[in-house]
Amino acid sequence: MAILWVACGSNDDSENINPDNSISELPAAFAAFDTDNVSVTLVNNGTEILIESNGLPNHTSPYWSSTTERTINGPMGEHTTPAAAQDHELFVQPTATSFDQMAPGNIDDFNGSYSLTVSAVPTKATTSSATGLGAIGIAVSGAMIYNDEEGPNVPLDGVVGSLDYNGAHTGPQSYHYHLEPKAWSEDDDELIGIMADGFFLYGRRDYDGSYPTDLDASGGHFGPTPHNPDGEYHYHIQNELYLNQYYILFPGDYQGSASAIR
Ligand SMILES: [Zn+2]
Ligand SMILES: [Zn+2]
Repeated sequence: MAILWVACGSNDDSENINPDNSISELPAAFAAFDTDNVSVTLVNNGTEILIESNGLPNHTSPYWSSTTERTINGPMGEHTTPAAAQDHELFVQPTATSFDQMAPGNIDDFNGSYSLTVSAVPTKATTSSATGLGAIGIAVSGAMIYNDEEGPNVPLDGVVGSLDYNGAHTGPQSYHYHLEPKAWSEDDDELIGIMADGFFLYGRRDYDGSYPTDLDASGGHFGPTPHNPDGEYHYHIQNELYLNQYYILFPGDYQGSASAIR
């Protein structure tokens, strides 16, 4: 077990960080994750953090099972999502989308898990790297964060009608967000989740209510967050209108070294 290193006579702002890049307690931001859906553990002697999720969101959506049967004729053919005997307790009627535009499948069809291991003290990589299809981050709700593509070189534009009020829909695997998730963040500084490179993603605003003006190509910068007044590198939702009404969560590259979300 590592011994906590205390800086003597220095103005060091990293008193929780040991010289071997391990930490003794989880960063405060992890308190924002839903404990029913997500578990967060310090592993490998405090040098890494393991985030495990059941992939389910902790909020309402029209994608929870309901008594409405819906059939869509999409690019992958006709899909019918059968009616359930009763509405799931988190089911709400579609507002941003409609039953005949929604993607196939219900949130509660997904019966699996995701896990991500990141460095306890993530640092920026020498070069940025592109995100891939599938999960690129884990949201505080428990569901997954995707980028701005729906398939290989398929932009979101064609499927935007299937997104619910959280900018999310079901996919081949699980319910996932492409856009600002209004269930808990709309033009604010809420924590959205953790990206696969270990950096946190926040809402469009900084902790002081301002829009950051010094963001890099990935929407990231170093500065204080609502969870860390000392400052750390973090991302923001891109504050740029998409199709005149949406905000894309994370269209850029990872600035750190990403691990796979399995
Ligand atoms: Zn999608
Ligand atoms: Zn910021």
